[in-house]
Amino acid sequence: MIRKIDKTSVGEALRAAYDHCKTETGGKNADYIPYLKNVAQNLFGIAACLPDGTLLTVGDTEFRFGIESVSKVPTALLAMEQYSDHEVLRKIGADATGLPFNSIMAILLENDHPSTPLVNAGAISACSMIKPVGESAGKWESIVNFLTALAGSPVEVIDELYRSESDTNFNNRSIAWLLKNYGRIYDDPMMALDLYTRQCSLGVTASQLATAAATIANGGVNPTTGKRVFRAELTPRIVSLMATVGFYEHTGDWLFQTGLPAKSGVGGGIMAVVPGVMGLAAFAPPLDAAGNSVKAQKALAFLARQLELNLFGTTRCTVAEPVAAKA
Ligand code: GLU
Repeated sequence: MIRKIDKTSVGEALRAAYDHCKTETGGKNADYIPYLKNVAQNLFGIAACLPDGTLLTVGDTEFRFGIESVSKVPTALLAMEQYSDHEVLRKIGADATGLPFNSIMAILLENDHPSTPLVNAGAISACSMIKPVGESAGKWESIVNFLTALAGSPVEVIDELYRSESDTNFNNRSIAWLLKNYGRIYDDPMMALDLYTRQCSLGVTASQLATAAATIANGGVNPTTGKRVFRAELTPRIVSLMATVGFYEHTGDWLFQTGLPAKSGVGGGIMAVVPGVMGLAAFAPPLDAAGNSVKAQKALAFLARQLELNLFGTTRCTVAEPVAAKA
């Protein structure tokens, strides 16, 4: 079955999701990174970006928050773009760990394999793979420029968050050295860790995350700029990674309930991709025990039901015409 949705129905669904979730008080801010503990708990925003570039928003969608683990999505895409999807599969993997995002046990259990670029180990490994683009720029510029192109507007590090993470990332340091020991770091391990820490400290808005998600949904062409950011064949690859591990050890529960591939971060943001249809993002700082935003999950689950976005269902949504890449 095909269900046609338009700006009006998506806008109404966003408003209804917001009203449905705004009084939710569950969860608490991440406190293992001091900066995140102090972000206002009541911030809440939801954004959708359609294939024609229309951005629909409700709530605090222009507030800049720490992207955290959602940054693993663009860097995994960049690694696939610079090497190939098969090379990323070979060097890192694409399997769910079923364990927390920062699990050292997962590396040991997988026989030295970082499993997937969407957990800390795989993301640090992916950072070590990234190549500089252009002669004067470095790896870091490649990462920032790629996210900027996906989101359609500039992103910047939140310095205080970066300092806060760098001062406390002892577990991630262990992961980097363990991976080095197993030959899964493809450059200097402490540089890879720093790139990872910095990318987690990038500030983004829910509007930017929804646009980045829409670029993925639109086969690599950013619908707001018309520019091609990555090869179209990588969309199913990255969406499959999001579907398998986007919520860490709760990913199966999430997928069972919503059928919506998405990636969360401990900053409270979640980015969801409905391939060929739209990009969605929600943001609210308080998290559940696994590190996923309680309100953002609730809002996206509401939208998945309301707009019938479940990828495993028999209804396929269509919206406005996708934007084709500019020549
Ligand atoms: N920077 C965080 C960490 O590595 C990201 C975790 C997350 O968002 O899941 O611990």
